[in-house]
Amino acid sequence: MEPVHIIGAGLAGSEAAWQAAQAGVPVILHEMRPTTGTFAHKTGDCAEMVCSNSFRSDDDQMNAVGQLHWEMRKANGLIMAMADRHRLPAGGALAVDRDAFAQAVTASLNDHPLVTIKAGEISDLPESGNWIIATGPLTSDRLAQSIRVATGTESLAFFDAIAPIVHADSIDMSIAWEQSRYDKGDTEAERRAYINCPMTKEQYEAFIDALLAAEKTEFHEGETAGYFDGCLPIEVMAERGRETLRHGPMKPVGLTNRHVPEEKAYAVVQLRRDNALGTLYNIVGFQTKMKYGAQTRVFRMIPGLQDASFARLGGIHRNSFLNSPTLLDDRMRLRLRPNLRFAGQVTGVEGYVESAAMGLLAGRMAAAQAMGHDLPPPALTTAMGALVNHITGGAEAKTFQPMNVNFGLFPPLADVKGGRRGRKDRYPAYTQRAKDDFTAWLSAQ
Ligand SMILES: Cc1cc2nc3c(=O)[nH]c(=O)nc-3n(C[C@H](O)[C@H](O)[C@H](O)COP(=O)(O)OP(=O)(O)OC[C@H]3O[C@@H](n4cnc5c(N)ncnc54)[C@H](O)[C@@H]3O)c2cc1C
Repeated sequence: MEPVHIIGAGLAGSEAAWQAAQAGVPVILHEMRPTTGTFAHKTGDCAEMVCSNSFRSDDDQMNAVGQLHWEMRKANGLIMAMADRHRLPAGGALAVDRDAFAQAVTASLNDHPLVTIKAGEISDLPESGNWIIATGPLTSDRLAQSIRVATGTESLAFFDAIAPIVHADSIDMSIAWEQSRYDKGDTEAERRAYINCPMTKEQYEAFIDALLAAEKTEFHEGETAGYFDGCLPIEVMAERGRETLRHGPMKPVGLTNRHVPEEKAYAVVQLRRDNALGTLYNIVGFQTKMKYGAQTRVFRMIPGLQDASFARLGGIHRNSFLNSPTLLDDRMRLRLRPNLRFAGQVTGVEGYVESAAMGLLAGRMAAAQAMGHDLPPPALTTAMGALVNHITGGAEAKTFQPMNVNFGLFPPLADVKGGRRGRKDRYPAYTQRAKDDFTAWLSAQ
């Protein structure tokens, strides 16, 4: 049988290799480390965790990443099995002994009769064969260049300039209002794609003071090249002059406060719809290097966002990722070259667990293809299905940024009789629906 080739033995590539081999398909796993390293990896082991040692919450009732753990265990995932074996006490979180974990993943793959690990960098996109590219946020420069040549220069980002993303239902619409600047847009949906939060002069001045005083994170070594060509962090803009933001992302022109049309706002923070479901909004132009604690404190000073719940906070770091909504189909294949499938963080998911989950899917899909079948993705009511749907079409392509799994990606539930469900009822209902639908997807294979 024709083998599945996988580039990159990180969290995604290791899981993809395991899934394809367990399905009975030979796998060749290409890894450039330790011969060619990255600034973050320290070993030559498969599935090295480069920073924290946490797979986050293991609560599969109330937490979306916990639900993703459940699905990966149910699908006999190697990453979850080895994480469980090398688990460290950490309350409700799944923390692991990173060295023992990576060594166990490496040994499992080395011992598998259908897996061959081949050392060396792949520097060009392969022309033919059944390939999975799982080269992660630190994809080697030569391969990144080859991807850019095949897909267009704009399609592979170098930097992840992330604006914070807010759950729509936590925005106070008695203060904020929907309107696009100058009421632009041909359709009602376009005109309602933005939510605006007004600021008085006093609120703006206090906000600038808080931005300037907030704690920031430093860049990692080797991360800064090219950074200023991209988007400036808001605190850097504020450092350039107290009025800079008011003439940039916070300019109030072309907007009229629906609640008090006669009052002109001194500055306006705009949020833009971030997914087709309309459950998530990003704060336009608010990429930042502020520490997470500081971000929640400072962003909740924005009128209308005082109770904001964040699907993800802002950041800027080295991260190669594709504009997947335009480039990949729902089988995670490059539309232009369907023999190439992408998986892991390079597809625009964020985090160890999400990357491994996309590896699990890609591995199963590539194995199905090798055996002459087609495997559709799981329903979008599952954590895995919601995530793959987001990156391959659910997200807005223009503002596409890497995403953690979260309940904002799940299709809303019908409201209970007599009103909306609270989170306490909604989250277990999401995860129960996900478990049922994921089980059905597995049994159909
Ligand atoms: C500095 C930094 C800190 C991070 N901290 C966290 C964190 O705390 N928590 C978290 O959840 N996520 C964190 N991430 C994101 C993390 O990298 C991903 O969650 C996860 O590692 C992605 O898995 P992956 O398999 O897609 O990529 P990786 O795990 O990076 O695996 C990609 C593999 O491909 C190999 N490779 C690259 N190019 C080639 C090539 N041309 N040929 C052959 N092999 C190649 C690499 O050597 C690597 O082994 C961090 C990322 C960075 C850069």
